[in-house]
Parts: sequence; structure tokens; C-alpha cells
Amino acid sequence: MVLNTMGKIAVKCSECGTYSILDIDLFKLKSSKSFHCKCGHKILNANVTKGELVLNIDCIACEKQHVYRFKFLRVMKQEINIISCPTIGMEIAFLGKDYHVNDFVKKYMDDMFELLESLGVIGLGNVSRVKLK
Ligand SMILES: [Zn+2]
Ligand SMILES: [Zn+2]
Repeated sequence: MVLNTMGKIAVKCSECGTYSILDIDLFKLKSSKSFHCKCGHKILNANVTKGELVLNIDCIACEKQHVYRFKFLRVMKQEINIISCPTIGMEIAFLGKDYHVNDFVKKYMDDMFELLESLGVIGLGNVSRVKLK
């Protein structure tokens, strides 16, 4: 069986609130790697040690850093892992297979836009939707 070690992680930036969708290759994370948002803010640090993927995520909900550990095999098998803030419970990141991560982010984006629209915060005319493949 060939295991796919490529995954994606979507992390919501604690500075500007946008989701960044990052490619991660588990086999290339033997040394830790930092990921940055488009705005320049560091949103994630990832590395693999002792068969576990260790993620340091800058939390948008409580503005602290959280450490998450996932079993290597689980990351490769699980379709999607929802990562939420342990303090507030809000979803801050999604980790998983390519298409699932994209779907999740799209769903959450849509929900967010609908909510903001219904609250009258934004009008339909000035919404710039983020296009996902
Ligand atoms: Zn940002
Ligand atoms: Zn948090």
C-alpha cells in the first residue's frame, strides 16, 4: 500500500482573519517548518517527531499558542481533522486531505459571509469572495 504523505492544512490567521491553505508533506517535516500568512504573520509551525505530527498554531480565538499532536498514521488516514481552540472551542484550523480541506474552508467562508450579510455588516455588492479551486 502506498501512503500519501501529502496533506493540507487550513489555518485562520490571528492577525487578519483569513484562511491560508498550506501544503504539508509529512516526510519533509523532519525539521520544523514555519508557515506564514499573506499578511506576514506567522500562523503555524509544524514538525514530525517520533511518529507524530506536532503543530504549533497561533490561535485566533484566544491569541495564545496551542500545541497539537497527531499520530502520523491518523493524519494520513483521516479525511479531515478539525482543530479547535481548547479554551474557547472555536475551530481555528483544518487538517486533512486536499479536497476535504478546500470544501471545509469554502463551507466556513460561506457560512461566515451569510452571517455577516444577514447582520447587515456587509452588502452583497462589496463582498470579495475567495475563490478556491
Ligand atoms: Zn494574516
Ligand atoms: Zn485558543
